[in-house]
Amino acid sequence: MKLSACELRTMLCEAKVLSPIYNADGVIMDIGRDARLFPRWMKLAARDRDGGCLVPGCTEEPALLDYHHFKPWSKGGHTRLQDCCPLCRSHHVMVHNGYLRLVKVKGLPYVILPKHLDPDQQPRRNTYFSRAG
Ligand SMILES: [Zn+2]
Repeated sequence: MKLSACELRTMLCEAKVLSPIYNADGVIMDIGRDARLFPRWMKLAARDRDGGCLVPGCTEEPALLDYHHFKPWSKGGHTRLQDCCPLCRSHHVMVHNGYLRLVKVKGLPYVILPKHLDPDQQPRRNTYFSRAG
């Protein structure tokens, strides 16, 4: 019987068992709601993906970042790589107070700046740490 990851997780959850979800290469991508805090390897993977704080122009030292759940844990958010958003402490606070907004574009977290800074409300990512540059 074929099951989607969601169906499998639901069945395992009801059975009081939760197991990680792996990608085709055997890398754990999702540990569901077993743990609220992102494990170190997931933080490093998100930092490798995004380079540093997601907010355009931010140059905070990557070692000092916080890791924010794209969907808040308190509202059912999952501890998974695609929802692990590196933010410096200042920008993390700004996300929580609604000054900055996070959205996803093609599975990646992007930032919407406040209207007075970006009237077009374009999703943006920080390019400061871009490997291409
Ligand atoms: Zn920042």
